[in-house]
Amino acid sequence: MQENITLPGDPLPFNSIFYIERPSIESDAYTELVKPGSLIRIKAPRQMGKSSLMLQLIHQAQIHEYSVVTIDFKLVDTQTFLSLNNFLRWFCVNVARQLSIASHLDDYWDEEIGSKVSALIYFESYLLEQIKSPLVLILNEVDYVFQHQQIAQDFLLLLRSWHEQGKQTPIWQKLRLVLFHSTEVYIPLNINQSPFNVGLSLKLPEFTVEQVTELARRYELDWCDSQAVENLMYWVGGQPYLIHQALYYIHQQKISLTELLNNSTHGQCIYSAYLRNLLNILLQDAELSQAYNQVVNSTNGNINLSANLVYKLDSLGLIKLSGYNYQPFCELYRLFFQKSLLIESNAIPWDKLKKENEKLQLLVNIDQLTQVANRKCFDETLEIEWERMTHIQEPLSLILADLDEFKLHNDTYGHQSGDDCLHQVAQAISSVIKSPDHLVARYGGEEFALILPQIHAGKAILIAEEIRETVKLLRIKISELTTKIQVTNTTSLTISLGIACIIPSGDFSLREFFEATDQALYQAKKLGRDRSILSSKFKFGYNE
Ligand code: GH3
Ligand code: MG
Ligand code: MG
Repeated sequence: MQENITLPGDPLPFNSIFYIERPSIESDAYTELVKPGSLIRIKAPRQMGKSSLMLQLIHQAQIHEYSVVTIDFKLVDTQTFLSLNNFLRWFCVNVARQLSIASHLDDYWDEEIGSKVSALIYFESYLLEQIKSPLVLILNEVDYVFQHQQIAQDFLLLLRSWHEQGKQTPIWQKLRLVLFHSTEVYIPLNINQSPFNVGLSLKLPEFTVEQVTELARRYELDWCDSQAVENLMYWVGGQPYLIHQALYYIHQQKISLTELLNNSTHGQCIYSAYLRNLLNILLQDAELSQAYNQVVNSTNGNINLSANLVYKLDSLGLIKLSGYNYQPFCELYRLFFQKSLLIESNAIPWDKLKKENEKLQLLVNIDQLTQVANRKCFDETLEIEWERMTHIQEPLSLILADLDEFKLHNDTYGHQSGDDCLHQVAQAISSVIKSPDHLVARYGGEEFALILPQIHAGKAILIAEEIRETVKLLRIKISELTTKIQVTNTTSLTISLGIACIIPSGDFSLREFFEATDQALYQAKKLGRDRSILSSKFKFGYNE
């Protein structure tokens, strides 16, 4: 067995006896891989086993006799990242080389039609045309591309369009895209949502007790009593690298489990480089460090954290979530970060930073006139909730609301009075919302938007109707003159609402969902205003 042992941290070869499957990640990926035109995204914090899974996938592709190309973005020269044209040329030439096809890039490259179209034509008319079998294109370390925002945006759009071509065009069905990226990239880039939202998304989970027991057995450790596994997992959770590392060292008899557990937060422990690295990432973001400091020092995990901070801590694999309870991922992290963040905190003026952060946060997220969330906050929250609901497969409802004939009020009573109304209406809408998870925002002008995670269409309709009633009860006059609309016996200001609800998956984009909600609002206006209309396309949880 000795010669088969891989150093902890190195990817495990496909036939390694130490590779532990994490159902149903592997089988889901293999099933997707054989589908024409598929796209798989595999994301996890560092050292969760992405590269080992990549070797398994390559092996699967080889069994099916597919062509396999692996592009590692760590290897791109900084210079190449300066222009999209250079980057895409680099990409195309690399793929051709790995397929052992002469590149002939200039025959297909036309700066006038642009580099994205050139790359598309090059793949469609040349590379895919030349090969007989499907092509599995593995893009590894995609986080390096994310760091170059201008390139990233265009490149991800290009990949998305190739994947979409695969839904209709046979030649594009040959292409199977597999993207690997580390979620840690969200911290330095301040990204609070996954930058790419198509295809099958797989997030690598931690090991279960059974999986750790099995791995200990493969390391020939006599751990039949579950106590040893329990002790180790209490300490390092099911984090694959920390587990592998422990078993490896114990197996090599360099250390006993008791010694390992006694020393692991000391400077010279087997985890010190790993922990230091995590600490460095955390310290790049003062607000995040402060939040994590709260988590590791809390006794019950009942802390108030914004969705954005939770998303980032989760992306780093630092916390365990259960509802709104946030615990450190494992005891090792609790002890290490309690100590190291305390040391760091002497150097950083936390309180001052926190107060400034809070003030700034309020200013950048609140609409000054109405005192509800602003458009920026709405856009960010919607993307976060879309991602979160995709992950937990729960419904997401969206309501767009627009005041009716509001221009008449302005024209009659003046702009100042109009402003007061907007404030009143915003507050009235907020009064209907009870959950801290739900967001009321001013979308623009006299339009409002509500994001309602974990609310199905039936409930969203009730909320919309309550808003409609509440606004009407404000009895804001719209005009002393006769209005354009057919009012019966009141001239109170009314509101129209469009509603949509979906359990997000790869089938529809957030944009399509938003546009359908806007369409429903348009219908409400067209049918005579003062009503709420549910989208006919996205109406999950509506009982007709
Ligand atoms: P509809 O029922 O079709 O929505 O009619 P409408 O008059 O509400 O719609 P329209 O989009 O034609 O006009 C929107 C008006 O909202 C224009 C402007 O007078 C008013 N408005 C937009 N933003 C503000 C604001 O910040 N303050 C004030 N006072 N009025 C605003
Ligand atoms: Mg409007
Ligand atoms: Mg309006």
